[in-house]
Amino acid sequence: MEDRQAVIIDGKALALKIRTEVAAEVSEIVSKTGRRPKLCVIIAGDNQASKVYVRNKKKACEDCGIESETIELDGSITKEELFDVIDRKNADKSVDGILVQLPLPGGIDEKEIIARIAPDKDVDCFHPVNVGRVFTGDPVFLPCTPAGIIELLKYAGVTIKGANCVVVGRSNIVGKPVGALLLAEDGTVTTAHSKTKDLKKVTGEADILVAAIGKAKFFTKEYIKPGAAVIDVGMDRDEEGRLCGDVDFDDVVGICGAITPVPGGVGPMTVAMLMKNTVKAARIHG
Ligand code: NAP
Repeated sequence: MEDRQAVIIDGKALALKIRTEVAAEVSEIVSKTGRRPKLCVIIAGDNQASKVYVRNKKKACEDCGIESETIELDGSITKEELFDVIDRKNADKSVDGILVQLPLPGGIDEKEIIARIAPDKDVDCFHPVNVGRVFTGDPVFLPCTPAGIIELLKYAGVTIKGANCVVVGRSNIVGKPVGALLLAEDGTVTTAHSKTKDLKKVTGEADILVAAIGKAKFFTKEYIKPGAAVIDVGMDRDEEGRLCGDVDFDDVVGICGAITPVPGGVGPMTVAMLMKNTVKAARIHG
């Protein structure tokens, strides 16, 4: 078969467009209420990747005119001390969104910490109440990475309605909620994972493939249906230590219809959707 060239879905450009829209909304909120939306990011420990993510979020806030506060805590912090910090920010009327950067230092139950955040300030959309709302089709916030994926597909003109969508990965952060959002868009959704039999056959029937397994360049062209839209969520490192995705981009680009690059695909969209949620929270708080 003749090789074709895929559409490269530019997540950086779309994220910039969304951030510009968010900045306009922030100006409107400030002029109406005299109050600036505010995001509080809590980070515990010394995880270098987490520090980079937190810096990116802070920079995005600055660009959008959102006030941001970063609380850096020692890796030896206890669950109770972290609860105290969250409780204070829950009660602080100047704070619209609270985000606890994951992973947390060992020994702290992330689920308990997430559940401590007031649902109306849970801009990551990880709290069970907000997750439940997403799954019942009545969301307040949308989960950032999954919502970014839907935006990327729409931006690229990919029809989700009726499409055979295969999500590989079933984490609470990506796999499960992206399946829920694709279903809400009338996609026919299959979720695959490490116990799935004959993965190539399953993904080979996907009109839309979402790869979210955390394995560098795992998906080669044998996994792809010709013409499929491929969304690469992975943030992995190749043999040379360079950032790459779960999809072997160079191998797949000649066969798929559209593809998100890494970097420059899903990553920037996650941060843009976080900014959107923070503005949504500010509107709720008035
Ligand atoms: P995770 O919690 O480690 O989950 C990985 C999932 O992949 C699991 O469900 C696992 O199956 C499945 N899996 C692993 N190996 C597999 C295989 N060989 N075949 C089929 N399924 C397999 O990961 P995550 O938090 O969802 O993140 C996934 C990737 O996305 C990572 O690279 C992460 O860095 C990246 N990420 C990017 C963003 C962004 O903004 N771009 C945001 C979040 C995450 P089991 O459940 O059976 O173990």
